[in-house]
Amino acid sequence: MSSSKIPVAVLGATGSVGQRFISLLDHHPWFQVVALAASDRSVGQKYSQAARWVLDTPMPEYAREIIIVPATTEAVRAKIVFSALHTEIANTLEPEFAKAGAAVCSNASSYRRGEDVPLLLPEINADHIQLVKHQRRNKGWSGCIVTNPNCTSTGLTIALKALDEAFGVRKVFAVSLQALSGAGYPGVSSLDIMDNVIPNVANGGEEEKVEWEPRKMLGKLNHNKIELAEITFSAHTNRVAVIDGHTVCASVQLDRPVEPEIAIQALRDFTAHPSAKELPSAPRPVIEVRKEADRPQPRLDRLIGNGMTTVVGRVRRDPILDLKFVVLSHNTIRGAAGASIYNAELLVNENFL
Ligand code: NAP
Repeated sequence: MSSSKIPVAVLGATGSVGQRFISLLDHHPWFQVVALAASDRSVGQKYSQAARWVLDTPMPEYAREIIIVPATTEAVRAKIVFSALHTEIANTLEPEFAKAGAAVCSNASSYRRGEDVPLLLPEINADHIQLVKHQRRNKGWSGCIVTNPNCTSTGLTIALKALDEAFGVRKVFAVSLQALSGAGYPGVSSLDIMDNVIPNVANGGEEEKVEWEPRKMLGKLNHNKIELAEITFSAHTNRVAVIDGHTVCASVQLDRPVEPEIAIQALRDFTAHPSAKELPSAPRPVIEVRKEADRPQPRLDRLIGNGMTTVVGRVRRDPILDLKFVVLSHNTIRGAAGASIYNAELLVNENFL
């Protein structure tokens, strides 16, 4: 291992999000993978044997020969532990790693609502990372847990931040069209999803997550507490036959009505929080606005900015609320593995390691 790089591990390395971690951590400028963990099914096997690789880029060479270990603090020793575990497993394992001194960057929903746990999208709320100090005092941990939001909240919240800063957002009505990779591997059966739309995302309270998580991320950090943003949300979440990339159709009420062209300019002008701008995974640009009548589309637009950019289109007047638009975000990159890596870069940059 290159001695200058920070040792990192991935828990749940063989799954849908785990594979994205493996791919995005290949040649990462700051991080070096030293351990990969998964379930008993995989432990003891080489990564190339245990993972049924589903990405359309080749499995990185560095990972192929790594022997999968159990997700325990004895077997996994790394300064940063990326968690792509399901919630019920993350519930117990993530605090154990934080107690043992690791900075846990989690995709699971287990601790997103924790009062001392940052729920981060660094380009919009990098300052919330300061909650880690409070968390360490509260819990007596030398490590910590930081989380990224549910993948459907991600793009929506970034677009809302730009609008909230410029005009103030009061109400949001959102309908999602969520990709299959968001259900993990093997996920939804082909007989269920082909020729179909499923009007329910069975990830454990998906709609409630989309209605609550943006309020925390758009909230203000005040004396070690996040004051939730006073925005009312209503969400419908749907599974569609797309492999990667969650689309959300949103209508919003603002503090004052604005012309779509003014809103488009605000979205385009939005820049990342100063602490998060220069990090290796920072989206460039943060938001791209498409002007074509039929964009964004997942197949064509999900890899803009290496999958980290939030793509907005069809910004127009809403006859009931004020404005409506479509937002697309890559669910396993900006919405999951890329998000955790960006969070970890922020932790390093803010000297939390
Ligand atoms: P997944 O494809 O089902 O993968 C689950 C992973 O967890 C596999 O590597 C599995 O290993 C491992 N695992 C299962 N039981 C384990 C245990 N007892 N100990 C250690 N590892 C265990 O799931 P996913 O879609 O990647 O989701 C992972 C997490 O990310 C979930 O909390 C999910 O809600 C969240 N998330 C997902 C997305 C997305 O777009 N997919 C976006 C945001 C957040 P084996 O292969 O050995 O069984």
